[in-house]
Amino acid sequence: MTNNLIIKPAYLIAKDIKDKKNSQGEVYSFFEKRISQHNASLNAFVDLYKNNFDNQSNSNLTGVPIAIKDNICIKGKKITCASKILKYYQAVYDATVIKKLKSSGLSLIGTTNMDEFAFGSSTENSCYGPTKNPWDKTRVVGGSSGGSAAAVSARLVPFALGSDTGGSIRQPASFCGVVGLKPTYGRVSRYGLVAFGSSLDQIGPITTNIKDCAYLLNIISGFDQNDSTSAKVADPDFTKSLGQDVASLRIGLPKEYFDQDLNSEIKETLDQAIIFFKKKNIQFKKISLPHTQYSVPTYYIIASSEASSNLQRFDGIRYGYRAKADDLWQIYQKSRSQGFGDEAKRRVFLGTYSLSSGYYDAYYLKALKVRRLIKNDFDQAFKEVDAILTPTTPTAAFKIGEKIKDPLSMYLSDIYTISSNLAGIPAVSLPCGFTKDNLPLGMQLIAKDYDEATLIKLGDAFQQDTDFHKKIPELKNV
Ligand code: GLN
Repeated sequence: MTNNLIIKPAYLIAKDIKDKKNSQGEVYSFFEKRISQHNASLNAFVDLYKNNFDNQSNSNLTGVPIAIKDNICIKGKKITCASKILKYYQAVYDATVIKKLKSSGLSLIGTTNMDEFAFGSSTENSCYGPTKNPWDKTRVVGGSSGGSAAAVSARLVPFALGSDTGGSIRQPASFCGVVGLKPTYGRVSRYGLVAFGSSLDQIGPITTNIKDCAYLLNIISGFDQNDSTSAKVADPDFTKSLGQDVASLRIGLPKEYFDQDLNSEIKETLDQAIIFFKKKNIQFKKISLPHTQYSVPTYYIIASSEASSNLQRFDGIRYGYRAKADDLWQIYQKSRSQGFGDEAKRRVFLGTYSLSSGYYDAYYLKALKVRRLIKNDFDQAFKEVDAILTPTTPTAAFKIGEKIKDPLSMYLSDIYTISSNLAGIPAVSLPCGFTKDNLPLGMQLIAKDYDEATLIKLGDAFQQDTDFHKKIPELKNV
C-alpha cells in the first residue's frame, strides 16, 4: 500500500488517508523508515520526532508529515539554527506557521539542517556539518535551507518549510531538483522565525511539485497580529490557480540576466522552457532591470546590518551556550567567540561596520536608496509583463569545499535570487532540466507583490506537460 508514497504528491497522500487507503500511522512510519535508511549519508535532518498527529483536524493535508527548517520555533523542541550558540536551546512557543500546520493536522517529523542562522548558500556553515546533495553526494545542496531541500528531493518527507532572505529557499530547491517558493514579504507571518534580515526574511514551502506548493501556501499564509510586518491583504485560495489557462500571460526576459556570461547548459535549458511557454501562447518580451548589478552589494550591506543587530540578543546570558568566564564582559566575549561560526562573525563585522557612524551614510543609507531603485525597476517591468523568467542560479550544485574559503564567490551564487527579496516580491524556482552530469537545474519565475497566483498558474502549466519534477535521485551507496 505504501510503496508508491515516494512518487505521490502530498495532497494525494492526504486524500488516501481521508479515503482510508492508508492510515496516518502507516504514512508516518514509511517516511520514518526512509529517513533512518538515508539520513546518515545525507545529513538532512538534525532532529526527529516521534509520531505526533492530531486526528481532530480536517484539512487538505491532514496526516501528511512535514519537515521544518531548524530556525522556526516549535514549542518544547530544540531550535538551534545550526549554531553552537543555541545548541541546547528549546523553543518556548510555536511560530505562527507551526500553529497553522498543527491545526491543519500535519505531522511534524523533524527539523532540518541549514547554514548557521541562515548565513550561506551551501549548508556548509552548519555546526552539524554539511548536508550532501542526493543527486551527487560530493556536492552541496545549496543554502541556507539545504536540509529541507535535500530531504524533499530524496523523498525522505513529502514537503518542508524553509526560509528565504536572499534565495535560501529557491537556490537549494534548484540544486536539489525541487520546487521552492518565496512568498511576497508580508504574506506569511515571521513570528517565531529566528530573525536574520528582518526586512527580507520570508518562510515558504519546499515541495516536489507546484500543486503541493499551492496547498501548503494556503495553510501558512495570512495576516498575523504577532508580526507587525504581516500584510492585511486578501488571502486567495492558491489551489484555484491550478489548471488555469495561461494563454494571455506575458513573460519578461531581463537582458541583465541573460548576458554572455550565462552558463551555456543553463541557457539551453531555459530556451527549452521558453519554447514550451510559447507553445502555450504566452508572449515573451525583452525587458531591462537596469540596477541588477547592484543587487549583491546592496543585499550584503542591508542583510548583514540587520543580522548584526538581530544577533545581539545571543549574548551568552539569555539564550543557549554560555562560556565559562570571570565577569560579564568576558561572558559576552567568550560565549560569542566560541558560539558563533566564522560566517556569523563575518556578518556581524560587515553589519556593524556599515551601521557605524562615519560609514552609515556611505554604506547602509546608500544601500537603502539603491534598494528603492531596484524595486522601481520591477514596478516598471510589471507594467509590461505578468511574470519575469530568469535562471535561479548561475551554476548547478558545486562541490563541497569548493567555495567555502572564498566568501565572495559564495555570495555571487545568489546573484539571481536576491533582488526579489530586496523588492519584497514573490518568486519560485521550478525544476527545468539536468546538466550532462545529471545535476538538476532550476528556472526562476518572479511576479509582482502578492501575485503568487500567477507563479502557481505558470508552474502548473509547465509541470502538467514536463516531468523534470518527477525525477528522483537514486541514492546510491546506502
Ligand atoms: N545566501 C544568502 C546569504 O548568505 C541568502 C541566505 C538566505 O536567504 N537566508 O545571505
